[in-house]
Amino acid sequence: MMNRRDFLASLCLCCLSGAADALPFRKDEGAGWMNTCKSGLPDHLRNHPLVAAAWSGLNPALVWDVHTHLLGDGASGSDCWISPKMQSIIYPQQFMQRQFFENGGCVDGERGNPGGQGNLEGGLDDAYLGRLAHLIDEFPMGAGAMLFAFDHTYTEDGSKDLSRAAFHVPNLHAINIAKRFPGRFRAVASIHPYRLDAVAELKLAAANGVVAIKWLPSAMGIDPASPRCDLFYEAMANLKLPLITHAGQERAVKGAHQQHFGNPLKLRRALDHGVRVVVAHCASMGEDRDLDRGSNGKYVESFELFARLMADSRYEKNLNADISALPQINRAHYLVKIIERPEWHDRLLNGSDYPLPGVIPLFSVDLFVEKGWLAKGDATVLKQIREYNPLLFDFVLKRSARVGGKKLSDCIFETAKRFKPIEI
Ligand SMILES: [Zn+2]
Repeated sequence: MMNRRDFLASLCLCCLSGAADALPFRKDEGAGWMNTCKSGLPDHLRNHPLVAAAWSGLNPALVWDVHTHLLGDGASGSDCWISPKMQSIIYPQQFMQRQFFENGGCVDGERGNPGGQGNLEGGLDDAYLGRLAHLIDEFPMGAGAMLFAFDHTYTEDGSKDLSRAAFHVPNLHAINIAKRFPGRFRAVASIHPYRLDAVAELKLAAANGVVAIKWLPSAMGIDPASPRCDLFYEAMANLKLPLITHAGQERAVKGAHQQHFGNPLKLRRALDHGVRVVVAHCASMGEDRDLDRGSNGKYVESFELFARLMADSRYEKNLNADISALPQINRAHYLVKIIERPEWHDRLLNGSDYPLPGVIPLFSVDLFVEKGWLAKGDATVLKQIREYNPLLFDFVLKRSARVGGKKLSDCIFETAKRFKPIEI
């Protein structure tokens, strides 16, 4: 029987037969395929000049990762849930995704519970949180992360559809963690707008101090341009809660698999209701129909449609985007486009899309060196940091990247001032 390591390796070998530019995975020199999940960042890395330079010019108390996923199996009583499809090799794509997430978060069972947590009765819930809390504790005091709940998939009549769902993280799980670690974590609720209790759940989440709402439309089965969202949009605008929503192609989570719901142009409906929208990953990757040319408009880069929204003066105040996942191999060329557009920078927010920075072959430091975006000596340090702390790796990589002498502006990283202060 193929073990997880072989499975990942075989997948990568399959990829190696593809065109070089299309490779989603790459093994860096001196690095393995898998997250080594070391814990306890050594002082020589924590205090390294490259890390010090990454923090230079920033107030750590304002540096909050706006895109961090929670994951769990419900063993702690959290009601977190993972689709049986993600646990069965019969569904290889979903099965593989789970392997990725669990190795990225160092909860794949083969290493016990890393991060000095010992044996935990809370299963995946506690092991995942233990590792994440350990990683964020290696950031300077005050820095933190916004943790995402993840709602179920629902049908158009508002009923839950477990057959198409990928995983579930209840709002209360994120809220309870934020209450336990107020200096490090804030909660982001996830509420499907077709739910019959959507507005009531939104008000409850707001009363519990959540700082935003998260959607993954293609996986959850949400059409952001549907009138079914209107009441929810009105309530969000009234509560001044921003919507962090995925746009462009989604590969990490399959769920309902309705890719066209990720069309950035569909977000106009939320924007026109006065909702502040944060487009995840700047809609990098994939193509969507140009709906401005009709429902059969030609396919163009999703990023181009996102750029059209960014250029619309009506949305100057309420359209933001996050730069999570942009250093990944198949998105890195968009990171370059963003570095080259400083006029966007005060509307961009840094996020990691954790646990993906822990999925080692999705990121290639060597690629950054080859492209001239990173000095070779810095690459060595970054590879070492990645072994201990993928969250810090993602941050330092973005802070260190240079394109033609330009970099991502400091304001992108001081995200906390763009969200309500914690009220839990
Ligand atoms: Zn994400």
